[in-house]
Amino acid sequence: MTDFSPFHSATPIIALIGGAVAGSEAASVFAERGAAVLVLEQGEKPYGKIEDGLPRWHRKLREAEYAKIDAALAHPRVFFVPRTKLGRDVSLGTLRDELGLSAVVLANGAWRDRPLPIEGIDRFVGRGLLYQNPFVHWFNHYEDPGYDGPRIECPDGALVVGGGLASIDVAKILNFEVVGRLLRERGVGVDMEELDTRGIPETLEKHGLSAEAIGFRGCTLVYRRRMEDMPIAAAKGSDASAIAKAEAARVKIMTRVQNKYLVRFVGLASPVEAIESDGRLAGLVFQKNAVRDGKLVSLEGETFEIRAPLVVGSIGSIPEPIPGIPTRGELYDFDDWERGTLRGLERVYGLGNVLTGKGNIRDSRENAATVSAEIAEGLLGLGGDPSSCEVRSRVRDEANAIADQASQFAVEDPARRQRVVEFIEARWVAAGYGGDYRSHIARVRAG
Ligand SMILES: Cc1cc2nc3c(=O)[nH]c(=O)nc-3n(C[C@H](O)[C@H](O)[C@H](O)COP(=O)(O)OP(=O)(O)OC[C@H]3O[C@@H](n4cnc5c(N)ncnc54)[C@H](O)[C@@H]3O)c2cc1C
Repeated sequence: MTDFSPFHSATPIIALIGGAVAGSEAASVFAERGAAVLVLEQGEKPYGKIEDGLPRWHRKLREAEYAKIDAALAHPRVFFVPRTKLGRDVSLGTLRDELGLSAVVLANGAWRDRPLPIEGIDRFVGRGLLYQNPFVHWFNHYEDPGYDGPRIECPDGALVVGGGLASIDVAKILNFEVVGRLLRERGVGVDMEELDTRGIPETLEKHGLSAEAIGFRGCTLVYRRRMEDMPIAAAKGSDASAIAKAEAARVKIMTRVQNKYLVRFVGLASPVEAIESDGRLAGLVFQKNAVRDGKLVSLEGETFEIRAPLVVGSIGSIPEPIPGIPTRGELYDFDDWERGTLRGLERVYGLGNVLTGKGNIRDSRENAATVSAEIAEGLLGLGGDPSSCEVRSRVRDEANAIADQASQFAVEDPARRQRVVEFIEARWVAAGYGGDYRSHIARVRAG
């Protein structure tokens, strides 16, 4: 029997959309502060980018993050509602107006790939072009029992258009897949964790081989700015010496990525045209760029081609549009980026990647996705410590500010609180969820 006692007295009732790092962290802040919390999650599991964005070789890190999410969502004041997508299974109007919740908080991350900036390029998706989010999802899940998603072949010499941490992961996945296949053809088994830890040259050497010996070329990562501008390590300050230090850290990190994972890097180039062959994307034409007085300028007329059997677009993830949520360009229309409030929508907020994802105004466009050099090195397999997640402390601050606001809208009317309980129960029936988070997650994780 589920204990619905948090709804027995007047209390703020807060719905979180998405139960991953940001949603679960905020849920525990709200619950600790006495609110009753609904976590509406579109999937069966709430792990978000930790499950589908962090490459699967980060086994330990992923388990540690899962445990933190599980602990937050098992709190007695938190009511997990799986298989419930805002915009599909429930509308914003139902939550905010019909149920009259104290606050609706968007923690649904950034799952839409920013399209490559070439008119009509998306006609090649699945025919020589892929995007980062489905690509990493495929990589993390294709070995799962019962996997029934798309099958992807990773050819050698692919092209990645990107520039942040995620695009380096994409390049590593491509190279690991190709090296793994070339080794298997020679009767040598190797797992992804070994390739991540040792790197490609050392792994090959262990078997008396080399990249040349197995005919491995590697993929190419193209970025529109310089290596020292890549959003992979944040500057600890805005003065010239802090910026110079961050730039040096980025070059060091990227040089090690090239040496350890045999990723080729081409900077100062933007894709401007598709190269088509037999109805497939066969490569891209790039426009050369230069940085002048800190500004990126394109060098008109100076173009070059890179032909490749596969192009992966990895230039950022943006929030998916949701009916009722105002947008401005490709982002949700926040009128206050500090408080995460949405323009014209009282009692609706955003936090986590939805707010701090690439393109955020508060962090600059270029630095939105940066993490400290140490975390970046750890996440990239270069030896740093990725065990601390800065996202969580930032989310706690944001969630405390939202809890302050929501405390003014405690749900006083018992009939309204009862309607919320009925809503939860109806969704649980629709989702086949028994009401106990721990047993649910044990069951779905066991497959
Ligand atoms: C150890 C570690 C350290 C890190 N450090 C940093 C760092 O310092 N800085 C940084 O920027 N990043 C960092 N990262 C990356 C960071 O984890 C991701 O940015 C983070 O996981 C994003 O979390 P999120 O909850 O905002 O979004 P997501 O993980 O994308 O979760 C969103 C959730 O919402 C659900 N959802 C989506 N749409 C809907 C809908 N319409 N209805 C219902 N549910 C929906 C999704 O299924 C998903 O579960 C780190 C990662 C790790 C593992």
